[in-house]
Amino acid sequence: MLFTDIKNAIEVNWINNSKLPNNDAIIRSVLNLSDIDSAEARLRRFAPFIKMIFPETVESKGIIESPLVEVPELRKALNREKIGANLAGKLYMKMDSMLPIGGSVKDRGGIYEVLKYTEDLAVKNGVLESYEDDYCKLASPAAKAFFSTKKLHIGSTGNLGLSVGLMGKAIGYEIIVHMSSDAAEWKKELLRSKGVIIKAYEGDYVEAVSKARAESEVDANGHFVDDEDSKEMFLGYAVAGKRLKKQMRQQGIVVDDKHPLFVYIPCGVGGAPGGITFGLRQFLGDNVHCFFIEPTQAPCVLLGMVTGLYNNITVQDIGLSGKTHADGLAVGRPSAVIGDFIKPFLTGIITVKDKRLFDYLRILWESEKIFIEPSSCSAIHGPVCWSHSKEMDDYLEDNNLHRYMENATHIIWATGGGMVPEDIRQELLAKRV
Ligand SMILES: *Cc1c(COP(=O)(O)O)cnc(C)c1O
Repeated sequence: MLFTDIKNAIEVNWINNSKLPNNDAIIRSVLNLSDIDSAEARLRRFAPFIKMIFPETVESKGIIESPLVEVPELRKALNREKIGANLAGKLYMKMDSMLPIGGSVKDRGGIYEVLKYTEDLAVKNGVLESYEDDYCKLASPAAKAFFSTKKLHIGSTGNLGLSVGLMGKAIGYEIIVHMSSDAAEWKKELLRSKGVIIKAYEGDYVEAVSKARAESEVDANGHFVDDEDSKEMFLGYAVAGKRLKKQMRQQGIVVDDKHPLFVYIPCGVGGAPGGITFGLRQFLGDNVHCFFIEPTQAPCVLLGMVTGLYNNITVQDIGLSGKTHADGLAVGRPSAVIGDFIKPFLTGIITVKDKRLFDYLRILWESEKIFIEPSSCSAIHGPVCWSHSKEMDDYLEDNNLHRYMENATHIIWATGGGMVPEDIRQELLAKRV
């Protein structure tokens, strides 16, 4: 039984029977394509400012985006006997690990939310005269002095702290990152070196977030970047759908009835994979099939969906630890906005054991010389599942997709790892659990 397997930390492949065609799903949706377009327009307004303060974005003209790369050697390696993926079609990686500034998918949602809040404040307080003003004014000493009186509070397992912290500091905010016990030491060090205040807790992510929320509530100049309940962050992630569509067109990758697209995205609270899935379904329609990947000890979004309790249940409630080497996914309770909202758009959820993450980390490094962090490696398990999962095979059968698998494109969403220091990389490459 599915629930028993989840409870016993057994790897599962859950196909979501509540998925709807996009046209039906969107009717019930509180957000739509034009919300994503306006989020993208906001990012474009900020681009000249971002280009000015982050030299690594000069080439992309201040647009924070990552490459889409084919990984044929990884495909070969996964298809070898040891893993036995037997994957047809083409395999790609979306390299959010290479996103400038924070080096993870959190650059999409986290930075977007900081910019949205900044724009609101700036226009309301005359730092910018209007939405058509020159946003480079935000780098002026007067603007910095204004923002230095404002505070951002964030709860984070690490990467959100990096994205919000680095962008927030560049604008001038005081930043307080409340970190869970899972957060890597080097992430705390890096943030401290930029002048970010770190508050570390013994507890998990849920505790860090509640501390951050409580502190910001009594702080008149504070704003809480709420990873568990933010529409803004969600839209920042969703912009990826629009950008990926364009990128695929430029690379001649076809998505239609006879050329399905499968996307595998690591999942913590669900904001990042949820936003990306929503964006992909809006821009690429019903021929994109999105899977979330969660650790067997922290499958909070899966648990919320199969029980129908969403954020009213935690993995600890059913006896799981919530602990995983995939630190970015070490979350016991899902986002409040994600479950019910994303269900009609989502194909399924796959869970993966920690020990595989380090095998995938090494296989990827050896085959493609690409390094990504353990959380990200969870997504590599997605394409591997087709060869041995009855549930996933049935999904292909039910949707008449078997005959098109030779034409399929698979995208592993590489959500992070760009900022990992060299010594930690070596440690992770050698690690076995
Ligand atoms: C945060 C994170 C995720 C998942 O994002 P959620 O919004 O928490 O679901 C995936 N991978 C990495 C590397 C992350 O840092």
